[in-house]
Amino acid sequence: MSEINRAVKGTNDILPEISHKWQFAESTMLETARLFGFKEIRVPVFEHTEVFSRNVGDTTDVVQKEMYTFLDKGDRSITLRPELTAGTARSVIEHGLLNSALPLKVCYIGGCYRYEKPQAGRLREFHQFGAECYGTKNPAADAEMIALAKQVLENLGVKNISLEINSIGCPTCRKNYQEALKKYFAENENDLCDTCKDRLTRNPMRILDCKSPICSNIAKNAPVVLDFLCDECKEHFDGVKAHLEAMQINYTVNPHIVRGLDYYTKTVFEFVSNDIGAQSTVCGGGRYDGLIGQMGGNDTPALGFAMGIERLMLLLENQNCEFPNAKKCDLYIAPMGEKAALKASSLCNELRLCGIAAETDICSRGLKAQMKFADKIGALFTAVLGDNELESGKINIKNMSDGSIKEISLDALPDEIIKLQ
Ligand code: ATP
Ligand code: MG
Repeated sequence: MSEINRAVKGTNDILPEISHKWQFAESTMLETARLFGFKEIRVPVFEHTEVFSRNVGDTTDVVQKEMYTFLDKGDRSITLRPELTAGTARSVIEHGLLNSALPLKVCYIGGCYRYEKPQAGRLREFHQFGAECYGTKNPAADAEMIALAKQVLENLGVKNISLEINSIGCPTCRKNYQEALKKYFAENENDLCDTCKDRLTRNPMRILDCKSPICSNIAKNAPVVLDFLCDECKEHFDGVKAHLEAMQINYTVNPHIVRGLDYYTKTVFEFVSNDIGAQSTVCGGGRYDGLIGQMGGNDTPALGFAMGIERLMLLLENQNCEFPNAKKCDLYIAPMGEKAALKASSLCNELRLCGIAAETDICSRGLKAQMKFADKIGALFTAVLGDNELESGKINIKNMSDGSIKEISLDALPDEIIKLQ
């Protein structure tokens, strides 16, 4: 197959045979979020480049290497969203949503674009489900956010997933920490990868997030951010832990979690699984109290998380999780002749209005070919409609799973099918 007839590297098609799994995942996510008070927001796939470059952080991998940025025909620099937090923040500021009742809770599902090396669980187009909460500094909000992510994973049937939390402090306590880190990594500078050598002066915390085995080995004995927290940040972290314990949510404190994006403050967390190979983080999130102010809004604390839906699907498959079956055709009506075809069309429409999935022949096929098709689409019931049935007003309905047949009146078709199901 020629290159142009193939999907672009790092993109996936979600084919009709599996789309019901995505629909199940997405409706579970939105419904769970609704129970926590979150309403869906939909923001554009692309934004002005600065929305991401200024706010995600210009020393992050995402901004330095991974963004799909281009000039549009009006010479504006546009970027396909690599994540949805920045665009969502842009939107809630622009529409004054932070002037209404706080906390404001929103959630989203959408495609994200990052120029990465494609591998299992790492794509160039992927999808995230995420949630954002604005307007509260209270640690109860951090714990509620974590509880939402956990509930979504549980409702989807994920097993053996662990929650790791950390606090990376506020800009005040982080200053001392950054100094200590610089000192520590400077002693090992020659062994660091080239990117981390650069990070050493610009943003040493990023080194803790480096995927190279040598850097992560050096990082193992680096100073721990928790030892540098100011009283306020320490108290906040204790509050988050207390609320998690009150909700009986198990966690481990992992002082090495820093998250890949620059806007985080205080709480950061990840849900990790050993069942998806190298890309073990399914969900990442935390607090970003400086983001809204930095983006030109009134200073408003904020927090949230994002989960990668492809990674989640991979995990569910690897754990042999059960998805609800795809809904099939309830009744296939096979018409014989022109008059019957007209009646079949109108019967199908009547059935669909009653919530019954009904199909009929739209290819002018003979009876045998129609039955073969009904079998292929997994129709639960079939019925042949010919001159006899039109005359008598009665039709035989065949149950395809056990072969049983029942004669019913054409007028009562919707009611009878509902009863038979
Ligand atoms: P990683 O460390 O794996 O690169 P990240 O820190 O860049 O992840 P975030 O920006 O926090 O990830 O995004 C949140 C979630 O989105 C991740 O935990 C992951 O599940 C998913 N995700 C991120 N990048 C990709 C990608 N390229 N392909 C598929 N899923 C992704
Ligand atoms: Mg990444």
